[in-house]
Amino acid sequence: MEIELWWLLALPLFFGLGWWTTRSDGGKVMPASKMPDAYFKGLNFLLNEQPDKAIDAFIDVVRLDPDTIELHFALGNLFRRRGETDRAIRVHENLAQRTDLPASQRAHALHELGQDFLKAGLMDRAEDVFHRLKGTEYEAAALGARLDIAQKVRDWPLAIDLAQQALSAGADAKTHQPWITHFRCELAALSKDPQEALRLLKLAHETSPTHPRALIALGQWAMGQDDPEQAISWWTQVLQLAPQAMNLTARDWLAAHQRLGRLDAGLNALESVSATQAGADVLEAMVEVRLSRDGAASTRTWLEQRMVQRPSLAGLDRLLMLRIKQGELTQQTSSTGLVEQVQSDQLMRSLLSPQLGRQLRHVCGHCGFKARQFYWHCPGCSRWDSTSPVRSEDSAS
Ligand SMILES: [Zn+2]
Repeated sequence: MEIELWWLLALPLFFGLGWWTTRSDGGKVMPASKMPDAYFKGLNFLLNEQPDKAIDAFIDVVRLDPDTIELHFALGNLFRRRGETDRAIRVHENLAQRTDLPASQRAHALHELGQDFLKAGLMDRAEDVFHRLKGTEYEAAALGARLDIAQKVRDWPLAIDLAQQALSAGADAKTHQPWITHFRCELAALSKDPQEALRLLKLAHETSPTHPRALIALGQWAMGQDDPEQAISWWTQVLQLAPQAMNLTARDWLAAHQRLGRLDAGLNALESVSATQAGADVLEAMVEVRLSRDGAASTRTWLEQRMVQRPSLAGLDRLLMLRIKQGELTQQTSSTGLVEQVQSDQLMRSLLSPQLGRQLRHVCGHCGFKARQFYWHCPGCSRWDSTSPVRSEDSAS
């Protein structure tokens, strides 16, 4: 297995060597007798599964002819892919400092050097190198890399600035505008001044008016200011524009309606969320408030009717919970049959709940990362908005 991997890594090097041997002799294939011994030594080490010694030998090849720029690049990239970032940095630094090279080659070397620093986890140095690529043909790629770094180090003001620069330079608005919304929401969450947080959230909303994140946060901000009416106004937009995201705020939505004595209106609005978008969290919030307002029997009747139209594992679990609760309440005055039914429901629920607990996860549509908690930014693949607010019921691990 190891040798197969090594051959994959060595392929670009062979291409580089092949190119060099042709080029070094005016376009004709260089006779084997003219090739440096180090080249054959390197090949021999490769065949003997000694990649480290092979790389040393190939380094000798490039030393013999300092003009073999492509070989330098091939070697540097090879080092980086093998995780030998120190050596990759040395190769690319050397190329970037060579004043005899054309500007485009030095910019190429700087771009590779930035990636070496990134791989080595040296974010400051990577940022510095990518910054120096302004005005070169690598400017757009460097801007993208700087944007990644700003997000990794959670420098949100810089991330906003860079995303705006990228937008001005023609980057895709469909991805960059929602990113700016996220960056502003992250910044708002860090702000200790409520008015500044509000300003940032409003800006975030203006950047991507249909994105649910800023709307949800604006509603939470209003609730923090004891203004349920305003919170409902923001969340109504979530309901209309991104109904799936109601799973992230259903409980707060109902609490705001309850505060205003309009629980029915809140429940009816949630009922309007279509079957595919009303996930386990919307259902859970509705069961909770109905149970405390109407009691187990009435909530059970409502849920049984709902389950006929929208069957789900989460619904079945809640239904069993309600049947047990209702059975326990009437147990003392009831028949043996009811006691047996409660025991049977308890058994079913004890089998279902652990299974359901494992399955009800937010799943990233890109990398498959699963978590109980919802993330706007996937911890698995670092993408924004790749995770569904609706928990999957079939994400068995
Ligand atoms: Zn992911």
